[in-house]
Amino acid sequence: MSNLEQAVNRFEDKKSEYIEDLKELVRIPSVSADPDHVEDVKRSAAAVADLLRKRGLENVEILEVEGAHPYAYGDWCHAEGQPTLVLYAHHDVQPIGDPELWKTEPFEPTLGDDGRLYGRGAADDKAGVVVVTSAIDAFLKSAGKLPVNVKVIIEGEEEIGSEHLAAFLKEHRSRFDADALVLTDTGNFDTGIPGITTALRGLVALKVTLRGLRQSLHSGSWGGAVPDAAVGLSRLLATLTDENGDMAIEGMMDSVRSLSAEEREKLEALDEPDEEFRRKAGIVAGSRIMGRSKSVLEKLWHLPAISVNALEASSMKAARNVIVDTASARIGIRTVPNMEQGGTLDKLEAHLKKHSPWGMELIMEREGGGDWWHTETTDPAFGAALEALEEGYGKPAVIMGCGGSIPFVEPFSSQLGGVPSLLIGIEDPYTNAHSENESLHLGDWEKSTRSIIHLFQKMSR
Ligand SMILES: [Zn+2]
Repeated sequence: MSNLEQAVNRFEDKKSEYIEDLKELVRIPSVSADPDHVEDVKRSAAAVADLLRKRGLENVEILEVEGAHPYAYGDWCHAEGQPTLVLYAHHDVQPIGDPELWKTEPFEPTLGDDGRLYGRGAADDKAGVVVVTSAIDAFLKSAGKLPVNVKVIIEGEEEIGSEHLAAFLKEHRSRFDADALVLTDTGNFDTGIPGITTALRGLVALKVTLRGLRQSLHSGSWGGAVPDAAVGLSRLLATLTDENGDMAIEGMMDSVRSLSAEEREKLEALDEPDEEFRRKAGIVAGSRIMGRSKSVLEKLWHLPAISVNALEASSMKAARNVIVDTASARIGIRTVPNMEQGGTLDKLEAHLKKHSPWGMELIMEREGGGDWWHTETTDPAFGAALEALEEGYGKPAVIMGCGGSIPFVEPFSSQLGGVPSLLIGIEDPYTNAHSENESLHLGDWEKSTRSIIHLFQKMSR
């Protein structure tokens, strides 16, 4: 029997044991955003380190940098002359949200009738951790060796923006020489349909305040003669988009990479029917799908988008007959290649200045943002990954984008000198990551782990 066959067989034998590994991790409430859970995040790093050891990794350590939640590290580097993969996942989780909305205990992993494992972190990203440890164990405890070298890094602060990741990688740079990165923390195209993510949008945000009066005034005594900040801000925000909902900011589309006819055609073929999209998104009857492109996926993955995330003048609760002195909004722009963060904000600010009505005072405040990321798929590692996913799922993988931002991808790939980064999907669209009732499709988790087993084999020379 080949080493690969032995590994696949071992996985079939042991998969229920591996799922127990996942449950153990889900029971630890490693909420990185909450200072009350600092000890839990530590406990979770320790539990991951124990798991790495148990599943055959060597040189296992808890690694720390000043101010960051701990990382767990382990490696196995005895495949002489073979490539080295850095395998990334994260062990911290999002807060649970509204406890009333959970149908099960968030930190008690619960198997549903639908074949899904419910619990905070069951998918994002403790499933990613256990995909990696299980695939490694499947080889080491059967064939006695892996076809490639592996270095496993499990982060503890992904859910709060991976703020220290660049510093961490710099500090421990010598450990991370590798030929490819494998990141198991992204989405699949659908249940049973694997995905490799090759494009992520970036994000910039700006707070804007308009002031027309030193204090709010009685609308009867003063209305008609003094500037109304709420009306002024509404007029200003209305200039940000055109009648299709597309951004109408001068020069904003200039640096946007346009898709080739072939790329666009592929996206249109992947698009679901409009009615299905409307249903999933919860668009109310009569309200239309926005944007001028024909393909919804092009809009979500490859075009910039503007949104007003918060809007404040006076509260409906305290509504009375006044003309408010100030009104504020937070404007977010999702960016795509080749938009620059600074340049994007410059254009937004210039637009707001130009269209600010009635000479009112305009105050703008930039927030920290994140870059978009995009990779070509010409490196042979992508070919290996596509084949491995097809082996694991029995269906060809979709090369996909992600409309959101994942802050760790850019620092990781640039610190490692631009080695190919394979973002392999774990979550299907029904996972509810970050929301209540998060769950993992266990069938897809198995397929995903089988794919990583095949990937190890395909990456060897
Ligand atoms: Zn995640």
